[in-house]
Amino acid sequence: MPRPWKARNSIARRVAPPGLTPCPHRIILPRMTTPQDPHQAKADEFLSHSPLKAFIGGEWVSSLDGKTFTTRDPGTGIPIADVPAMGAKDVDRAVQAATRAFRTSGWAEMSAHERGALLHRLADEVEREKPVLARIEARDAGKILAQAEGDVQNFVDTLRYFIEISLHVQRRTPLAVRGHEATTVRLPWGPCGFIIPWNFPFLLVGWNISPALAAGNTVVIKPAEDTPLSTLYLGVLAKKAGIPDGVINVVTGYGESAGAALASHPGLKRMSFTGSPEVGRLVAESCARNLTPVKLELGGKGAAVIFDDVDVNATAARLVGAITFHTGQVCCDATRWLVHRKIYDRFVSECVGRLKSVAVGYQLDPASQMGPVVSAKQRERVLRYLEAGRAQGAELLLEGGAATVAGRDGFYVKPALMAGSLSNIAAREEIFGPVAYLAPFDSESQALEMANDTDYGLANSVWSADLDRARRVAERMVAGNSWINAHNVFPHGVPYAGINKSGMGGGVLSHETFLDYTRGLSIVRPL
Ligand code: NAD
Repeated sequence: MPRPWKARNSIARRVAPPGLTPCPHRIILPRMTTPQDPHQAKADEFLSHSPLKAFIGGEWVSSLDGKTFTTRDPGTGIPIADVPAMGAKDVDRAVQAATRAFRTSGWAEMSAHERGALLHRLADEVEREKPVLARIEARDAGKILAQAEGDVQNFVDTLRYFIEISLHVQRRTPLAVRGHEATTVRLPWGPCGFIIPWNFPFLLVGWNISPALAAGNTVVIKPAEDTPLSTLYLGVLAKKAGIPDGVINVVTGYGESAGAALASHPGLKRMSFTGSPEVGRLVAESCARNLTPVKLELGGKGAAVIFDDVDVNATAARLVGAITFHTGQVCCDATRWLVHRKIYDRFVSECVGRLKSVAVGYQLDPASQMGPVVSAKQRERVLRYLEAGRAQGAELLLEGGAATVAGRDGFYVKPALMAGSLSNIAAREEIFGPVAYLAPFDSESQALEMANDTDYGLANSVWSADLDRARRVAERMVAGNSWINAHNVFPHGVPYAGINKSGMGGGVLSHETFLDYTRGLSIVRPL
């Protein structure tokens, strides 16, 4: 088939995805690894078509006004690709495509097995291209490569989990009602909207769209402006897997324009938003105006309650691992460490020692243990909280601050530990960086009171050798999730949700999530 453009190199000629037309003024992208890495070559080839296009109705399209924005490598600050900066008309086009696909592609009426077969093909494609997707994600989000690979695998596992559920949920349930023939039927809603944050771009697309697709809905995804690339690559794989056109649509753009347009679109039958509480509120307000049901997965300020019977070294290692994982940009992280006074000093000194030895470096450098934060703006945020916390009297047990990495002009920070009053701004607000705030406690009841003294309600953990005590404390924590002797654990099948300022609308990853993406219809015939 003739192409409207001339490929720049031989790899591009061989595997150019349809519709990705390179711009004559495109930026020249630095190759990230040696030519012997075929996965990187494939990732580079995809990105070399900058400006990339969005994926609507099975077509690759620019924004109607031709505007684009640049996504950068947070480890170097260098542009990776230009992407369409879409607005309300583009979003409308995507919602219309999703609506058409819902009504006419046959997707909504397929049996769960037929749809499951197609979705398994998509999971197969993603799994096969895991190294390529992981390289795209690692560069775009500043993720350590192994972590990006884990995220892609998690997408696959999530999709397969929801396919499995879709095969076993009863669609039609006869009801035993005197004098009537009565049935309830579960049906997909229609086109659903998804707004995704930048910290786990591909994994969260998987958590969000998998139940919706498996239930027979169509989707419009708006990835974060900092990290749109892996979601665009999903469009390539959806095409390859034979997912009908318009079932999966990706619109790129800024939150205030593309995001706001999606949240307020009256054609959507459901909306799911993952991100900050501030934006979540705006999204919920927009949805309320259209009476669109909305699911909000928001931020957190989780506590880890550490009793005096723990193995101090092992527990310190686990929590240091949690706070440095993806440079602390994890909504459910333990960012308040409440430690029994008897072991407080030992615990602090163990954590300080471990954090000092964390290798901060470029995300694709195999020696790096902690990469950059996602943007200059995010680095500013972390540094501002360190300063504000200190100004309000917090002690800096480990100073933190900006980090430099030789030869890389990226957005690096060092891990930090703060301590002091829990009314300090750094103890109350979500920082979203490798920063933990410590305080000692003397009794179980005091620890619980401290843990629950927050506006958030996402996830906490309790650490103790006494499992009865651990279970008791876990049950009294006011949040969606309590973990025992672990932090950040997400087995498929266990609901994961936030309450209070951390979310509303049902959560993700469980059987109930699948049901959220079905609407009930009751049918009654008087006898
Ligand atoms: P954010 O709220 O700034 O942005 C999230 C998404 O919303 C992005 O796609 C953005 O473009 C879009 N957006 C921004 N303004 C908008 C508007 N006015 N209308 C509609 N959409 C808009 O959040 P972020 O900085 O990308 O992500 C970090 C936040 O996400 C943290 O608070 C973190 O805790 C939270 N988070 C929560 C979970 C969870 O499962 N609970 C998971 C990951 C991240």
